[in-house]
Amino acid sequence: MSRTGNTCPGCARDDRVQAVPAVYLAGRDAVTSRERDRDGDMRTVTRRVTTGLSDALAPVPTAPAHAIGLLGFLSGFVCVASFMAWVFVGGALEDDEAPEADFGAFGPPPADLGPDLGFTGWLSAAALGVTLLVVLEVRRRKTAFAHRTRGRHRAEELWSHGWYCHRCGTVHLEGVPGEDRTPLTLQRFREKVWEHGGYGDLAAEQRAVDAVRS
Ligand SMILES: [Zn+2]
Repeated sequence: MSRTGNTCPGCARDDRVQAVPAVYLAGRDAVTSRERDRDGDMRTVTRRVTTGLSDALAPVPTAPAHAIGLLGFLSGFVCVASFMAWVFVGGALEDDEAPEADFGAFGPPPADLGPDLGFTGWLSAAALGVTLLVVLEVRRRKTAFAHRTRGRHRAEELWSHGWYCHRCGTVHLEGVPGEDRTPLTLQRFREKVWEHGGYGDLAAEQRAVDAVRS
């Protein structure tokens, strides 16, 4: 640990005190290692490793994972699969009677479809509609999240004054006007930082302790 001249108010020692941004970044590494794969051959594997401590000290919430993204993926798959069935099995684009006629990119009207596969064109169109709706909704949520965390620079400013003691597991603030050096739990520190950014209520949903456990 780097010596900071910055004693921990909990244990009155400075040998295990480290700046919060340093702890945060040190816990987010790409680790490369040599591993044996299933066939017994050695290969080089690079993984992104994030420690629970690093997650607990994050200045900004993680963007919520969207189950709706999975729906978009599935409807996209159904769209492509049913379109293929429509074209290749249903013969929607075959125009054997008038090869020179120009029907545009989508070929002749699917009047000659078999009765069994006519629905695949409609299914494909419906799935395409669902996929587009999902894409729009995901974009809307992304924008909303960016808007929600637009005060992150204020949060990061306070965050950068935090010092973590590896012995006590607490953070204290140093050199912030109006803030004393009381040792804070990870959750209390998160609440303070996130409140500064204007998204303090998210600290109740994404608890620092849960990040350490995971
Ligand atoms: Zn300490």
